[in-house]
Amino acid sequence: MRKIIIANWKMNLTPNQSADLVVEFKKKLGKENNNEVVICPSFTALSIVAEKIKKSNIILGSQNVSWMAKGAFTGEESISSIKELGCKYAIVGHSERRQNLGETDEMINKKISICLEKGITPIFCIGETLQEKQEGTSDHKLYTQIKEGLKKIDLLPHENLVVAYEPIWAISAVRAVTPHDVEPEEAEKVFKFIYQNLVDLWPLTIVNNNVRIIYGGSVDENNSKDFGQIEMINGFLVGGASLDADKFSQITKNI
Ligand code: PEP
Repeated sequence: MRKIIIANWKMNLTPNQSADLVVEFKKKLGKENNNEVVICPSFTALSIVAEKIKKSNIILGSQNVSWMAKGAFTGEESISSIKELGCKYAIVGHSERRQNLGETDEMINKKISICLEKGITPIFCIGETLQEKQEGTSDHKLYTQIKEGLKKIDLLPHENLVVAYEPIWAISAVRAVTPHDVEPEEAEKVFKFIYQNLVDLWPLTIVNNNVRIIYGGSVDENNSKDFGQIEMINGFLVGGASLDADKFSQITKNI
């Protein structure tokens, strides 16, 4: 499977700023890129970014999606809408939504189900807090997030999943307050643990062919070289550094 590098622009740019950034990034990325590159702008910028990436190999993703197909859900966005705008991926269960907006494992499970059912590949985010890491409960947290998030989901041969391991303490916004670095070797151990949990759920061929486990947490144009050396890491989810076209294009080349 090709490696995947995903930009999560969060709520940082207006639609016009998103259009400018994607145009700049498209020029820097060029055509010779073997990896899959996905841009996830905010909902209001999806249309304009979709327009700008036509005839390029950049793929569109959303930062969230509703678990309901349609109806009285003020402020939510449906799978049909994001699909109509050209999204192929949707980020599901980002730690900022889990922590600040009350998103639960149950909601995330429903979102993953509807994504798969409707042909959108979920980017399923998991990760422990600094406190959980220090208390030695990281494995339990990841195990629970995987077990509950993927409950009753049978990944079929035509379906794909991206699992993004993002230790919350390593995400740039959190790291700015409590600086801790993830060593690539440490990340590799966690990747093996996540892989094993997926193998316990699904046939090996499905896990090997249809699931990519990627890393997120302050990935930049420098540390992506070391993380990129780790065979089990199938790509990156990038926040802060994806807002800079030079840095993000360099990251796409470092793996
Ligand atoms: C994220 O929040 O998904 C993320 C990886 O952010 P950053 O790269 O800024 O740490």
